[in-house]
Amino acid sequence: MGDYHVHLHPHGPYQGVGPPPGEYPPGHIEAYVEQAAARGAEEVGFTEHLYRCVEAAPVLGRFWDSEPRVDLAEQTAAFVAEDLALSLEGYVEAVVAARDRGLPVLLGLEVDFFPETIDAVAELLAPYPWDFLVGSVHWIGGWAIDHSGAAFEFRRRGIRKAYEDYFALEAQLAASAQVDVLAHADVVKKFGYRLPEVPIDLYRPVVEAAASSGTAVEVSSAGLRYQVHEIYPEPTFLRMFAEAGVPITLASDAHNAQDCALGRDVLVAAASDAGYTERLRFRRRQSSRVPLIGERPPSGGDRVDASERTP
Ligand SMILES: [Zn+2]
Ligand SMILES: [Zn+2]
Repeated sequence: MGDYHVHLHPHGPYQGVGPPPGEYPPGHIEAYVEQAAARGAEEVGFTEHLYRCVEAAPVLGRFWDSEPRVDLAEQTAAFVAEDLALSLEGYVEAVVAARDRGLPVLLGLEVDFFPETIDAVAELLAPYPWDFLVGSVHWIGGWAIDHSGAAFEFRRRGIRKAYEDYFALEAQLAASAQVDVLAHADVVKKFGYRLPEVPIDLYRPVVEAAASSGTAVEVSSAGLRYQVHEIYPEPTFLRMFAEAGVPITLASDAHNAQDCALGRDVLVAAASDAGYTERLRFRRRQSSRVPLIGERPPSGGDRVDASERTP
């Protein structure tokens, strides 16, 4: 399998781990490829965060300004300022150079979805040689839903309302046809705020939109590292995608080399249980189907640590 959701820098202020944001010294990309290979993943699709790139700032704008809850807006403003440390040009150059050195890497991007700016974002991204784009709902208005510091909003808004707001945006993203893959499609559950019922009614529009726009969905191990301790999408949601014929990729959402391709066996088992026998490979935004299970990893099982990291 490939790992089709990987970041080259952790979030937040530089902590001295790995290279500083925006730097790609020799060996950095190689370390991801080696870790992936050790877990049986034959290629690594990098998907840096669009909102962290300085070129994106004028296009995404101050999206938090329209947020009526001032505390959420202020928090997002600070969070974005802190993370805005990468360059789209520098990132693309580093991954393309790695590919030119013969490494099995793909050029992807994690595109933040805002209905108002998605078309302008598509224009910004058009000149680059992407292999694939993953799309993510990280913000509802100015609320950073997957940021641990803003998790208090689940109680204030109510969990049902938070889920409704999230999945309405996810369905719009799926319908937009501007990205190739939906990333962490039920990330709203990340901190363990759950509904008593499985929200089939909220899932259905997302699944239908993905099926009609031809957008795939990633099966991601990232949720195993957070309070929810569950893959994205959860089994019922994943089965709905499978039944609708929506194809999948496999993803770790690693933010360091160590986590690359983490949880591979869990993902393959979950996809297989949902009815999948194939996954997608991408080249220059064209997909092809390959068997879900390729070569076996050299050693069985991955340990997945629960820790407090932003996605
Ligand atoms: Zn990510
Ligand atoms: Zn994300």
